[in-house]
Amino acid sequence: MKSFCADEQRKHDPKMFLSSGAARPNPEKPARIERLLAGAKAAGCEIVRPRDHGLKPIAAIHTPEYIEFLENIFLRWQRIEGASDEVIPNIHPRARTGRYPASAVGQAGYHMADTACPISADTWGSACWSAWSAVEAAEVVLAGERAAYALCRPPGHHAFTDVAGGFCFLNNAAIAAQHLLKSSKRVAILDVDLHHGNGTQGIFYSRNDVLTVSLHVDPVRFYPFFWGNADERGEGDGLGYNFNLPLPLKTTDAGFLAALEVANRRIEAYSPDALVVALGLDAFEGDPFGGLSVSTPGFARIAEAISGLGLPTVIVQEGGYLCDALSANLTSFLTGFIH
Ligand SMILES: [Zn+2]
Repeated sequence: MKSFCADEQRKHDPKMFLSSGAARPNPEKPARIERLLAGAKAAGCEIVRPRDHGLKPIAAIHTPEYIEFLENIFLRWQRIEGASDEVIPNIHPRARTGRYPASAVGQAGYHMADTACPISADTWGSACWSAWSAVEAAEVVLAGERAAYALCRPPGHHAFTDVAGGFCFLNNAAIAAQHLLKSSKRVAILDVDLHHGNGTQGIFYSRNDVLTVSLHVDPVRFYPFFWGNADERGEGDGLGYNFNLPLPLKTTDAGFLAALEVANRRIEAYSPDALVVALGLDAFEGDPFGGLSVSTPGFARIAEAISGLGLPTVIVQEGGYLCDALSANLTSFLTGFIH
Protein backbone atom coordinates (compact mmCIF):
# COMPACT_ATOMS: atom_id res chain seq x y z
CA MET A 1 0.00 0.00 0.00
CA LYS A 2 1.29 3.49 -0.80
CA SER A 3 1.75 5.82 2.19
CA PHE A 4 2.12 9.56 2.00
CA CYS A 5 4.06 11.90 4.27
CA ALA A 6 6.24 15.02 3.78
CA ASP A 7 9.18 16.14 5.94
CA GLU A 8 7.52 19.55 6.39
CA GLN A 9 4.84 17.87 8.53
CA ARG A 10 7.44 17.52 11.32
CA LYS A 11 8.02 21.27 11.68
CA HIS A 12 4.85 22.12 13.62
CA ASP A 13 5.94 21.54 17.22
CA PRO A 14 3.32 22.84 19.67
CA LYS A 15 4.65 23.37 23.21
CA MET A 16 1.58 24.18 25.22
CA PHE A 17 -1.43 22.13 26.25
CA LEU A 18 -3.93 23.07 28.94
CA SER A 19 -5.28 19.96 30.64
CA SER A 20 -7.81 20.56 33.42
CA GLY A 21 -6.42 24.09 33.61
CA ALA A 22 -2.81 23.01 34.06
CA ALA A 23 -0.12 23.84 31.51
CA ARG A 24 1.50 20.64 30.24
CA PRO A 25 3.62 19.64 27.23
CA ASN A 26 1.47 19.28 24.13
CA PRO A 27 1.15 15.54 23.31
CA GLU A 28 0.78 16.05 19.54
CA LYS A 29 4.55 15.81 18.99
CA PRO A 30 6.55 15.58 15.76
CA ALA A 31 8.04 12.30 17.09
CA ARG A 32 4.69 10.69 16.34
CA ILE A 33 5.72 10.77 12.68
CA GLU A 34 8.80 8.56 13.24
CA ARG A 35 6.74 5.97 15.09
CA LEU A 36 3.98 5.98 12.49
CA LEU A 37 6.47 5.79 9.59
CA ALA A 38 8.12 2.80 11.27
CA GLY A 39 4.70 1.19 11.66
CA ALA A 40 3.79 1.76 8.02
CA LYS A 41 7.15 0.43 6.80
CA ALA A 42 6.80 -2.69 8.95
CA ALA A 43 3.45 -3.30 7.23
CA GLY A 44 5.25 -3.23 3.89
CA CYS A 45 4.08 0.23 2.83
CA GLU A 46 6.01 2.25 0.30
CA ILE A 47 6.54 5.78 1.69
CA VAL A 48 6.01 8.50 -0.91
CA ARG A 49 6.26 12.27 -0.65
CA PRO A 50 3.03 14.01 -1.71
CA ARG A 51 3.03 16.82 -4.27
CA ASP A 52 2.11 20.41 -3.41
CA HIS A 53 -1.58 20.54 -4.36
CA GLY A 54 -2.03 24.24 -3.65
CA LEU A 55 -4.99 25.80 -1.89
CA LYS A 56 -7.76 24.42 -4.08
CA PRO A 57 -8.47 21.14 -2.23
CA ILE A 58 -8.15 22.97 1.13
CA ALA A 59 -10.45 25.80 0.02
CA ALA A 60 -13.03 23.19 -1.04
CA ILE A 61 -13.61 22.59 2.70
CA HIS A 62 -12.33 25.62 4.63
CA THR A 63 -13.50 29.24 4.37
CA PRO A 64 -11.24 31.92 2.80
CA GLU A 65 -11.41 33.90 6.05
CA TYR A 66 -10.07 30.92 8.02
CA ILE A 67 -7.34 30.10 5.50
CA GLU A 68 -6.13 33.71 5.62
CA PHE A 69 -6.19 33.56 9.43
CA LEU A 70 -4.11 30.36 9.61
CA GLU A 71 -1.60 31.69 7.10
CA ASN A 72 -1.00 35.08 8.77
CA ILE A 73 -1.96 34.93 12.42
CA PHE A 74 1.47 33.98 13.74
CA LEU A 75 3.15 37.10 12.30
CA ARG A 76 0.31 39.32 13.44
CA TRP A 77 0.48 37.83 16.94
CA GLN A 78 4.20 38.56 17.21
CA ARG A 79 3.45 42.28 16.75
CA ILE A 80 1.38 42.34 19.96
CA GLU A 81 3.56 43.58 22.80
CA GLY A 82 4.15 40.90 25.42
CA ALA A 83 2.26 38.22 23.46
CA SER A 84 2.98 34.51 23.98
CA ASP A 85 5.36 32.64 21.62
CA GLU A 86 2.45 30.58 20.28
CA VAL A 87 -0.99 31.81 19.28
CA ILE A 88 -3.39 30.65 22.00
CA PRO A 89 -6.85 32.20 22.37
CA ASN A 90 -8.07 33.70 25.65
CA ILE A 91 -11.63 34.56 24.63
CA HIS A 92 -14.24 32.59 22.69
CA PRO A 93 -17.61 33.77 21.41
CA ARG A 94 -20.39 32.01 23.30
CA ALA A 95 -22.31 32.06 20.04
CA ARG A 96 -21.40 33.58 16.70
CA THR A 97 -23.07 36.95 16.11
CA GLY A 98 -22.06 37.39 12.49
CA ARG A 99 -19.57 40.05 13.51
CA TYR A 100 -15.91 39.33 12.66
CA PRO A 101 -13.38 40.98 14.97
CA ALA A 102 -10.47 42.92 13.43
CA SER A 103 -7.98 42.15 16.20
CA ALA A 104 -5.65 39.15 16.19
CA VAL A 105 -6.79 38.22 19.73
CA GLY A 106 -10.46 38.36 18.73
CA GLN A 107 -9.88 36.34 15.59
CA ALA A 108 -7.91 33.71 17.53
CA GLY A 109 -10.95 33.27 19.77
CA TYR A 110 -13.24 33.15 16.74
CA HIS A 111 -11.21 30.49 14.89
CA MET A 112 -9.87 28.31 17.73
CA ALA A 113 -12.21 26.12 19.77
CA ASP A 114 -9.78 25.39 22.59
CA THR A 115 -6.19 25.80 23.79
CA ALA A 116 -4.92 22.46 22.41
CA CYS A 117 -3.96 23.82 19.00
CA PRO A 118 -1.27 26.50 19.47
CA ILE A 119 -0.10 28.14 16.24
CA SER A 120 3.60 28.80 15.65
CA ALA A 121 5.67 29.89 12.61
CA ASP A 122 5.53 26.41 11.05
CA THR A 123 1.93 25.43 11.78
CA TRP A 124 0.39 26.58 8.51
CA GLY A 125 3.05 24.87 6.37
CA SER A 126 2.82 21.59 8.28
CA ALA A 127 -0.98 21.63 8.14
CA CYS A 128 -0.90 22.17 4.36
CA TRP A 129 1.49 19.26 3.78
CA SER A 130 -0.62 17.06 6.06
CA ALA A 131 -3.68 17.91 3.96
CA TRP A 132 -1.74 17.29 0.74
CA SER A 133 -0.80 13.82 2.01
CA ALA A 134 -4.54 13.13 2.26
CA VAL A 135 -5.17 14.58 -1.21
CA GLU A 136 -2.40 12.46 -2.73
CA ALA A 137 -3.80 9.31 -1.10
CA ALA A 138 -7.22 10.18 -2.53
CA GLU A 139 -5.62 10.67 -5.97
CA VAL A 140 -4.07 7.20 -6.07
CA VAL A 141 -7.35 5.64 -4.94
CA LEU A 142 -9.16 7.59 -7.68
CA ALA A 143 -6.56 6.20 -10.09
CA GLY A 144 -7.53 2.65 -9.16
CA GLU A 145 -5.55 1.58 -6.08
CA ARG A 146 -7.68 -0.39 -3.63
CA ALA A 147 -6.34 1.61 -0.64
CA ALA A 148 -3.76 4.20 0.39
CA TYR A 149 -2.54 5.50 3.75
CA ALA A 150 -2.05 9.22 4.44
CA LEU A 151 0.22 9.81 7.44
CA CYS A 152 -1.52 13.05 8.35
CA ARG A 153 0.12 15.00 11.13
CA PRO A 154 -1.06 17.40 12.41
CA PRO A 155 -4.38 15.51 12.53
CA GLY A 156 -7.67 16.92 11.29
CA HIS A 157 -10.99 15.55 12.53
CA HIS A 158 -11.67 18.23 15.19
CA ALA A 159 -11.30 21.04 12.62
CA PHE A 160 -14.53 22.58 11.28
CA THR A 161 -14.80 24.70 8.12
CA ASP A 162 -13.44 27.73 10.02
CA VAL A 163 -12.42 26.53 13.49
CA ALA A 164 -9.31 24.72 14.74
CA GLY A 165 -9.46 22.53 17.86
CA GLY A 166 -8.01 19.48 19.59
CA PHE A 167 -4.58 19.52 17.81
CA CYS A 168 -6.34 19.93 14.42
CA PHE A 169 -6.18 22.79 11.88
CA LEU A 170 -7.23 21.45 8.47
CA ASN A 171 -9.68 18.57 8.26
CA ASN A 172 -7.64 16.07 6.25
CA ALA A 173 -10.35 13.38 6.15
CA ALA A 174 -12.94 15.88 4.91
CA ILE A 175 -10.49 17.18 2.30
CA ALA A 176 -9.86 13.60 1.11
CA ALA A 177 -13.60 12.85 0.98
CA GLN A 178 -14.31 16.02 -1.01
CA HIS A 179 -11.47 15.13 -3.38
CA LEU A 180 -12.92 11.65 -3.91
CA LEU A 181 -16.22 13.26 -4.95
CA LYS A 182 -14.43 14.36 -8.15
CA SER A 183 -15.36 10.98 -9.57
CA SER A 184 -17.64 9.47 -6.92
CA LYS A 185 -21.27 10.30 -6.21
CA ARG A 186 -21.23 9.23 -2.57
CA VAL A 187 -18.42 8.91 -0.05
CA ALA A 188 -18.58 7.57 3.51
CA ILE A 189 -16.24 8.64 6.31
CA LEU A 190 -15.77 6.14 9.14
CA ASP A 191 -14.04 7.67 12.17
CA VAL A 192 -12.60 5.14 14.64
CA ASP A 193 -10.60 7.63 16.73
CA LEU A 194 -11.05 7.60 20.52
CA HIS A 195 -12.62 11.07 20.28
CA HIS A 196 -15.71 12.07 18.33
CA GLY A 197 -14.92 13.55 14.91
CA ASN A 198 -16.85 16.74 15.63
CA GLY A 199 -15.25 18.83 12.90
CA THR A 200 -15.98 16.24 10.23
CA GLN A 201 -19.56 15.91 11.45
CA GLY A 202 -19.97 19.69 11.39
CA ILE A 203 -18.58 20.06 7.87
CA PHE A 204 -20.99 17.55 6.32
CA TYR A 205 -23.93 17.93 8.72
CA SER A 206 -26.39 19.25 6.14
CA ARG A 207 -25.12 17.20 3.17
CA ASN A 208 -26.15 13.77 1.90
CA ASP A 209 -23.27 13.16 -0.52
CA VAL A 210 -20.96 12.32 2.42
CA LEU A 211 -22.14 9.93 5.14
CA THR A 212 -20.31 10.54 8.42
CA VAL A 213 -20.05 7.71 10.96
CA SER A 214 -18.08 7.95 14.21
CA LEU A 215 -17.25 5.46 16.99
CA HIS A 216 -15.87 7.15 20.09
CA VAL A 217 -16.10 7.47 23.86
CA ASP A 218 -19.44 8.86 25.02
CA PRO A 219 -18.88 12.64 25.11
CA VAL A 220 -20.94 13.12 28.27
CA ARG A 221 -17.69 12.97 30.26
CA PHE A 222 -15.09 13.09 27.50
CA TYR A 223 -13.63 15.49 24.90
CA PRO A 224 -15.15 17.08 22.76
CA PHE A 225 -18.07 17.15 25.28
CA PHE A 226 -20.53 19.14 23.10
CA TRP A 227 -20.81 16.77 20.12
CA GLY A 228 -20.91 13.02 19.51
CA ASN A 229 -24.28 11.96 20.88
CA ALA A 230 -26.44 9.37 19.13
CA ASP A 231 -29.25 11.87 18.55
CA GLU A 232 -27.07 14.09 16.32
CA ARG A 233 -28.38 12.77 13.00
CA GLY A 234 -27.76 15.60 10.55
CA GLU A 235 -30.04 18.39 9.38
CA GLY A 236 -31.81 19.51 6.20
CA ASP A 237 -30.63 17.40 3.25
CA GLY A 238 -28.18 15.74 5.64
CA LEU A 239 -30.80 14.42 8.06
CA GLY A 240 -30.09 10.69 8.51
CA TYR A 241 -26.58 10.98 7.03
CA ASN A 242 -24.69 11.41 10.31
CA PHE A 243 -24.40 8.38 12.58
CA ASN A 244 -22.76 8.45 16.02
CA LEU A 245 -21.97 5.38 18.09
CA PRO A 246 -20.87 6.57 21.55
CA LEU A 247 -19.15 3.84 23.58
CA PRO A 248 -18.69 3.41 27.34
CA LEU A 249 -15.26 4.29 28.76
CA LYS A 250 -12.78 1.38 28.62
CA THR A 251 -14.72 -0.54 25.95
CA THR A 252 -12.56 -3.51 24.86
CA ASP A 253 -12.07 -5.19 21.46
CA ALA A 254 -15.34 -7.15 21.62
CA GLY A 255 -17.48 -4.08 22.35
CA PHE A 256 -15.70 -2.00 19.74
CA LEU A 257 -16.08 -4.68 17.06
CA ALA A 258 -19.79 -5.08 17.87
CA ALA A 259 -20.34 -1.34 17.37
CA LEU A 260 -18.24 -1.43 14.21
CA GLU A 261 -20.56 -4.11 12.83
CA VAL A 262 -23.49 -1.71 13.29
CA ALA A 263 -21.48 1.10 11.66
CA ASN A 264 -20.57 -1.11 8.70
CA ARG A 265 -24.21 -2.08 8.12
CA ARG A 266 -25.08 1.64 7.94
CA ILE A 267 -22.25 2.23 5.46
CA GLU A 268 -23.42 -0.71 3.31
CA ALA A 269 -26.97 0.68 3.31
CA TYR A 270 -25.59 4.01 2.05
CA SER A 271 -23.81 2.18 -0.80
CA PRO A 272 -20.91 4.64 -1.22
CA ASP A 273 -18.42 4.60 -4.10
CA ALA A 274 -15.48 5.14 -1.76
CA LEU A 275 -14.56 5.20 1.93
CA VAL A 276 -12.34 7.42 4.07
CA VAL A 277 -11.21 5.90 7.38
CA ALA A 278 -10.29 8.51 10.02
CA LEU A 279 -7.81 6.28 11.82
CA GLY A 280 -7.19 7.26 15.41
CA LEU A 281 -4.94 4.82 17.24
CA ASP A 282 -5.73 6.50 20.58
CA ALA A 283 -8.47 3.92 21.20
CA PHE A 284 -5.51 1.75 22.29
CA GLU A 285 -5.56 0.46 25.89
CA GLY A 286 -2.07 1.92 26.52
CA ASP A 287 -2.59 5.32 24.85
CA PRO A 288 -1.84 8.28 27.16
CA PHE A 289 -5.49 9.43 26.81
CA GLY A 290 -6.68 6.11 28.22
CA GLY A 291 -10.35 6.28 27.16
CA LEU A 292 -10.86 2.93 25.42
CA SER A 293 -9.22 -0.48 25.74
CA VAL A 294 -8.59 -1.71 22.20
CA SER A 295 -5.60 -4.09 22.03
CA THR A 296 -2.83 -4.19 19.42
CA PRO A 297 -4.27 -7.32 17.72
CA GLY A 298 -7.69 -5.65 18.03
CA PHE A 299 -6.64 -3.04 15.46
CA ALA A 300 -6.07 -5.83 12.90
CA ARG A 301 -9.58 -7.17 13.52
CA ILE A 302 -11.03 -3.66 13.19
CA ALA A 303 -9.17 -3.23 9.90
CA GLU A 304 -10.31 -6.63 8.59
CA ALA A 305 -13.92 -5.71 9.30
CA ILE A 306 -13.54 -2.36 7.48
CA SER A 307 -11.68 -3.96 4.58
CA GLY A 308 -14.56 -6.44 4.29
CA LEU A 309 -16.74 -3.60 2.99
CA GLY A 310 -14.75 -4.01 -0.24
CA LEU A 311 -14.60 -0.26 -0.94
CA PRO A 312 -11.80 1.83 -2.42
CA THR A 313 -10.39 3.27 0.81
CA VAL A 314 -8.30 6.25 1.88
CA ILE A 315 -6.91 5.73 5.38
CA VAL A 316 -6.19 9.08 7.06
CA GLN A 317 -4.19 9.26 10.28
CA GLU A 318 -5.88 11.06 13.18
CA GLY A 319 -4.91 10.62 16.86
CA GLY A 320 -2.68 8.05 18.58
CA TYR A 321 -0.05 9.42 20.94
CA LEU A 322 3.45 8.48 22.04
CA CYS A 323 3.47 5.08 23.71
CA ASP A 324 5.53 1.91 23.18
CA ALA A 325 2.98 0.26 20.91
CA LEU A 326 2.18 3.18 18.57
CA SER A 327 4.18 1.70 15.66
CA ALA A 328 2.87 -1.81 16.29
CA ASN A 329 -0.72 -0.57 16.40
CA LEU A 330 -0.40 0.99 12.95
CA THR A 331 1.34 -2.13 11.58
CA SER A 332 -1.48 -4.22 13.04
CA PHE A 333 -4.17 -2.07 11.39
CA LEU A 334 -2.49 -1.86 7.98
CA THR A 335 -1.64 -5.56 7.79
CA GLY A 336 -5.17 -6.40 8.95
CA PHE A 337 -6.56 -4.22 6.18
CA ILE A 338 -4.41 -5.79 3.45
CA HIS A 339 -5.05 -9.35 4.72
ZN1 LIG B 1 -8.35 11.33 19.32
